[in-house]
Amino acid sequence: MQNYACHYLGLKAYFAQPGDGRPHPHIPAQDLIWAVVMGHILRVPSFLRLEWLVHSPVRPNFGVDQPFGDDALAYCTERMHPERTRLALAAALHQAKRNKAFENSRFIGLALDGTGAGRTYKQPCLLCDPVKDVQGAVHGCLHHLVLISIVGCGWTLPVDVEPYGAGDSEYAAAQRLLRRAVDHLGPRFADYLVGDSEYATAPFLHETEAVGLPVVARVKENLPQLAAAVRARFDGQPPQATFQEGHDRVEVWDAGDFDPWETLAWPTVRVLRYRQHKRDGTVIQAEWLTNFSIAKLGSLSFYRMAKSRWEIENRGFNDGKNRYGMEHICHHEPNSILIVWLLILLAMVIERLYRLRFLHRGDHGIRSAMDLVTCLWLTLGTVPPDTS
Ligand SMILES: [Zn+2]
Repeated sequence: MQNYACHYLGLKAYFAQPGDGRPHPHIPAQDLIWAVVMGHILRVPSFLRLEWLVHSPVRPNFGVDQPFGDDALAYCTERMHPERTRLALAAALHQAKRNKAFENSRFIGLALDGTGAGRTYKQPCLLCDPVKDVQGAVHGCLHHLVLISIVGCGWTLPVDVEPYGAGDSEYAAAQRLLRRAVDHLGPRFADYLVGDSEYATAPFLHETEAVGLPVVARVKENLPQLAAAVRARFDGQPPQATFQEGHDRVEVWDAGDFDPWETLAWPTVRVLRYRQHKRDGTVIQAEWLTNFSIAKLGSLSFYRMAKSRWEIENRGFNDGKNRYGMEHICHHEPNSILIVWLLILLAMVIERLYRLRFLHRGDHGIRSAMDLVTCLWLTLGTVPPDTS
């Protein structure tokens, strides 16, 4: 897997120089950073367990030359420069695009969303955001981040994260993240941006225009004027089209001439309403806006873009937390938390491209994430540590 990451994804130079900020390093940064990345692929998310692994006889198979302690990981990640890892992520995704990983997709999407992770009851760090109940009593702290991820093209590949602490906001962090991700990926890498209703605000929509990305965002009651106009137009009207998507029947209403609300500098707003009938009888209805014209984007493609937002929830945060250890704080210090999150994204990109693309050649079926973990542990010649 190290060969794959270094040669197929072009990460050799990154692992040799991952942005080490230590003045007099004794342990090569390559060993430490590879251990964190590979540890998250092997579902060994804690620094203490990595210390156990690199002191075990399997170390050479793990791709690490020297043993080290958990304190070396803490010291190094506190001092690493995040920009090198962010650029490495963008470079690996570019390499995947050059290797035609997205060639079967008409549109490549980027999704943005925020979450909280790493709840702690310890002494707060600068990223700690107190969790308060309705009476205002504090019950520990959470660490918040906004994630941007490639979606809508068969691959959910994370691109970058931006943390935000108390006094900052998801909204501000998302704008910083969007600007940086588009800067790193280049303006023509993706075809659209998708986000939930908190991103359906005039300043944010103007920001997506400034970075050159058409946008798809959920319409809820946070846009009362538009939501009322949509109801007045679509309620009582028969659907304009019906599609069969997998097992679901989807009815759509689609119009491109809604008035923008007063702060939005768009000539008109296009809104799609869909009503998705699932096989079990469940019906899901939602409205989404876009600045794609109907000529450029049909109703079915608009529906699929809206639905691609769920990928960041399911294959971004859920997988990130349940499979890759994003919920666990390895070392409670702001820069270290950020670096570990970025290394988790890198682990996800390497693992997914390796499993879904590199291994999926010839007659092999696609290996599940769990199968790959088991297979990697067997290759190491040991069994996973007890994670209970
Ligand atoms: Zn903290």
